[in-house]
Amino acid sequence: MKICGRCDQTIQDDEEYTEHDMPSSSGAGITIYRHVYLCKRVDIQTAPASEIRRYR
Ligand SMILES: [Zn+2]
Repeated sequence: MKICGRCDQTIQDDEEYTEHDMPSSSGAGITIYRHVYLCKRVDIQTAPASEIRRYR
């Protein structure tokens, strides 16, 4: 099973994806998979700044 590095969703067998080899300090390195089409990037910020201000 492959996980898309951009949208964090599972890449299905019938979906196109790209591979990106990422070297790591441990030596093994990892491979990042991404959908070929533009999928939705996972936003690390949980709420926009305006939302936070509203509940203060
Ligand atoms: Zn994706």
